[in-house]
Amino acid sequence: MKKIPVAKNKRLRLLLNLSLLTALLAACQPAPTPVALDPNQMMTAMVQTIAAQLSAPSETPAPPPSTDTPAPTATLPPRTPPALPPSTDTPAPTATLPPRTPPALPPVYQTSLLKADDLPRQYAADSCQYLKNKWDSTKAAPGTVVMVVMYHGINKGDASGNAVTVSKHEQNMRALHEAGFEAITTQQLADFMYDNAYIPPRSVLLIADDRHFAEYFNDHWRPYYEQWGWPVVNAYIGLDERPDLWAENAALSAEGWVDYQAHGYVHNVNITNASDDAFIESEMGGAIRSLQKYMDKTPIAYIWPGGGFTQRAVEIGTQLGYKLGFTVNERGPIMYNWVPQADAVNAANPIAIPEVPAGNPLMTLPRYWSANVQQHLDEVRIIGKEAAAYAEQNKATELDYYDIVCAPTYGAIP
Ligand SMILES: [Zn+2]
Repeated sequence: MKKIPVAKNKRLRLLLNLSLLTALLAACQPAPTPVALDPNQMMTAMVQTIAAQLSAPSETPAPPPSTDTPAPTATLPPRTPPALPPSTDTPAPTATLPPRTPPALPPVYQTSLLKADDLPRQYAADSCQYLKNKWDSTKAAPGTVVMVVMYHGINKGDASGNAVTVSKHEQNMRALHEAGFEAITTQQLADFMYDNAYIPPRSVLLIADDRHFAEYFNDHWRPYYEQWGWPVVNAYIGLDERPDLWAENAALSAEGWVDYQAHGYVHNVNITNASDDAFIESEMGGAIRSLQKYMDKTPIAYIWPGGGFTQRAVEIGTQLGYKLGFTVNERGPIMYNWVPQADAVNAANPIAIPEVPAGNPLMTLPRYWSANVQQHLDEVRIIGKEAAAYAEQNKATELDYYDIVCAPTYGAIP
């Protein structure tokens, strides 16, 4: 049996008395003959009786009155409430313990597999939300890694320029599949990078740049969609010329497995520090308007034509609604809150524009060149494994930190 505290007991009695009084008053109302009892006087008398009960010396020292149910003290002389104890409702067991000092969060996972200047950058501004997303068992497991691959041409003859041969492309796809990779869409990547939404532990985003006829996708990509359900991204150019080309691509877009994203409007003029806002808007905004017009689709990714980006263009692109951007810089794979980038131009990768000055890792994600997929597969797999092991090693510390600093506001981790 639960013992009712004295004050609560008194409050109960008070409530009972008040209900009785209400019943009595209600019963009085329809009485045909005038009754000598004045309801106001009755109330005053009753309240005084109750007050007398409350102030009568009790068996045990009464705790201070609760503040949430104000007693009808209107007719009583004002009483000075005693100070409330620090905890009112149900005192938590930890309340009496000394405050815990949160542990220092471990540094970001580093790897010697990448070039020395290509350092992983974190972009999550809120460490509590980051930890919650990271350890939420319904989301992507730590160590989930994405290889982003950039394709240009796939040549039926010899490889030339940025293109690869058909047989090289087939080898790439087989190697990715055998290594346990699965292809994802741009939206899946955005949900992963922003919220750590679940994607396969080894994912690949295949991006084919520039305009191609439907034949290119039917010959080189459709077989993998049919066998494995793998989508492919087409980084498409917005300039609305050649209506036949648009019609073919719009039909492919409607099928759903070719994922059209933006790759400039005129495309052949790259964005540089000399570009003014109007040009940047016409390139990045123009690409959105064309895809909306012809494909009824709003792109969420901008694939920088020629790999040209600036801090200003990253800002404008974000304002236009882009969630992700892709460079031509081959830095490494990407993970949730982990993007390898360089602070400055460096000898190891002299043609790559440094991303850090642009200030937004999500808008300047690296890509592997299609010719180099097979030689980098192991590095991507090992980075995923190492990151998972590093996360496991720090799990207790991070959960401890979360429990002390974050849980009161962010709640328990699902
Ligand atoms: Zn291009």
